[in-house]
Amino acid sequence: MAEKRNYQVIIIGGGPAGLTAGIYTARAGLDTLLIEREMIGGQIANVEKLENYPGFPEGIGGFELAQLMQQQAEKYGVQIAYTEATGLELKGNTKLVKTAEGDFETKAVILTGAAKRRKLGVPGEAEFTGKGVSYCATCDGPIFRDKVVAIAGGGNAAITEALHLTHFASKVTVIHRRDQLRATAILQERAFAEPKINFLWDTGIEKIEGEDFVKRLRLNNLKTGAKSALEVDGLFVSIGFEPDTAYLKGILTLDNEGHIITNNEMETAVPGIFVAGDTRSKLARQVVTAAGDGATAAISAERYLTEQAGK
Ligand code: NAP
Repeated sequence: MAEKRNYQVIIIGGGPAGLTAGIYTARAGLDTLLIEREMIGGQIANVEKLENYPGFPEGIGGFELAQLMQQQAEKYGVQIAYTEATGLELKGNTKLVKTAEGDFETKAVILTGAAKRRKLGVPGEAEFTGKGVSYCATCDGPIFRDKVVAIAGGGNAAITEALHLTHFASKVTVIHRRDQLRATAILQERAFAEPKINFLWDTGIEKIEGEDFVKRLRLNNLKTGAKSALEVDGLFVSIGFEPDTAYLKGILTLDNEGHIITNNEMETAVPGIFVAGDTRSKLARQVVTAAGDGATAAISAERYLTEQAGK
């Protein structure tokens, strides 16, 4: 629970972008509140091992890295409130951040982490979620020991998760809608070399069937239209994230996909509102770029507050 209702900076989202922003604003002497709706770490909280965050040649657990970032932010005085930001209102230069635990006032907001998992949107997905359909291989992988599973997606997350699932499952089928993976070369090489992993290319999942638990997937070859069925004990859905920015429509400028448009200083069209990390319209969505965005957003927020104070 936050100690007060007014902060110099409010950061929304406790992933690498938000935590890094907090480390920078707090070290700049700015009174900072960070609001997180679920778990500190955001998308990395469930990543078994990050291999491309500089400084850790043997890799580091996503949860462990997030905890270290949190410790560093709190050490410099960032306060953390575990609640959901549900709205943002402007009252002149003051920003009102609406949350499930009441409103907070600030002059500078750094928005991060507004993303939700993309769903397949097919019959059976909602019905079998938690009964064989999962969105987190790190969390649910051990349930599928010696079982046959499939994973939907072809990006870095899907291939990382497919490799992780080979520690438990007897067979892992990657079902991808194209004939080429989006994942980075090193992950592709590992997956192609892994005997437990096989691939179904150009394939869409039309329906998930079962009784108490998932039993089979109804598939469609997107090139030939040929229909088939695949017997599985589980399906992991790893088809990316969508920005969860609907509540910001009308305040900020969004791109076609709903990502927020900023300049290189992480400034939005509204003075005093900054955006960092995956929520931003940009090319690379990596932990290191999220941290970089967070640092830039914090430095811009500090400059903005200094300019405001001088007026
Ligand atoms: P992503 O890179 O956006 O990939 C999503 C995958 O799902 C793509 O292969 C896409 O197909 C497929 N897809 C999207 N919508 C679909 C739908 N409706 N039906 C079927 N398939 C669909 O997402 P991600 O893998 O979750 O990664 C998110 C971000 O985190 C990325 O920027 C990624 O690079 C980063 N990340 C990095 C690492 C790493 O560097 N080790 C690990 C995890 C995540 P298409 O290829 O046809 O578009």
